[in-house]
Amino acid sequence: MGARILDGQALAQGLQATLARDVARLREEHGVVPRLAALLAGDDPASAQYVRMKRRACEKVGIESQTRELGSDSGQQEVEQALRAFNVDPAIHGILVQLPLPPQIDEQEALAQVSLEKDVDGFHPLHIGQLAMKGRAPAFAPATPSGVMVMLENAGVDLAGAHAVVLGRSNIVGLPLALMLQKANATVTLCHSHTRNLPGLVRQADVLIAALGRPLFVQAEWLKPGVAIIDVGTNRIEDPSSKRGWRWAGDVDFERARQVAGVISKVPGGVGPMTITMLLQHTLLAAQRSVGLQA
Ligand code: NAP
Repeated sequence: MGARILDGQALAQGLQATLARDVARLREEHGVVPRLAALLAGDDPASAQYVRMKRRACEKVGIESQTRELGSDSGQQEVEQALRAFNVDPAIHGILVQLPLPPQIDEQEALAQVSLEKDVDGFHPLHIGQLAMKGRAPAFAPATPSGVMVMLENAGVDLAGAHAVVLGRSNIVGLPLALMLQKANATVTLCHSHTRNLPGLVRQADVLIAALGRPLFVQAEWLKPGVAIIDVGTNRIEDPSSKRGWRWAGDVDFERARQVAGVISKVPGGVGPMTITMLLQHTLLAAQRSVGLQA
């Protein structure tokens, strides 16, 4: 029997409909319109495209947005000044720093400038630290890992006591996700490029998260039957059968893996739409907190 396919697009649409209603209620009852401010530094077309997508998504649910664009030669001071200006603007509830920043910018230093109550992407080092600590919870967790956790919950995957194997340890996906999974009482193995016998570890996974950026890397033969797979990987691969000559592919060999897995997410239409939805949800939450609503 084939796996149940997790449709992140459909889940995101449902959540966004609820969000739109909550945004409207906040406006009507408190006169507050949530606003997301994005900092886009450099001339990476993919980053510009991501910011446009996030702004379009804001518009759809009634969240206002703005972008401060800085050139690829901008310095540390300029970036930090722009972030501090966002911090003190009372009309702005959430701040998004589109990564990666140009190479001359110290990314961690920049992210540490974002005020904690506006850090809707959850990248402030204090928020990441709180994710790692027992009994502590950050005001915001990073958007992509949050989206993955919601997908797992929605799919009814029981994490307590499960062996979760996370492939990839980046600051924005793999590492925070491993921390969130252990908070949900999973037993977590975090793999990276130095990991020995990766297929053997994958074989032990009840829950598998792939966040490597290596197209079709995870083979069906590595999987335990019934495993729950969330594929975060978003890679372009050549596809002569497609009009544009390429297509999106995840880190998992989806077509063969779906014969073995219990549940598996799609790429595209899996984690991507959920990431944006979490960002919107966090921006609304920040705006609600600004008027004393929500914890
Ligand atoms: P990243 O910063 O490049 O990190 C990749 C991680 O994978 C690193 O920890 C690296 O190990 C590990 N890795 C790479 N090749 C490996 C191999 N052959 N064996 C074992 N480990 C290996 O990537 P990222 O930013 O986390 O993104 C990962 C993927 O998720 C990308 O495809 C990205 O496009 C996608 N993504 C999607 C969304 C979304 O919303 N859908 C959001 C963010 C990212 P080392 O640490 O040892 O180098």
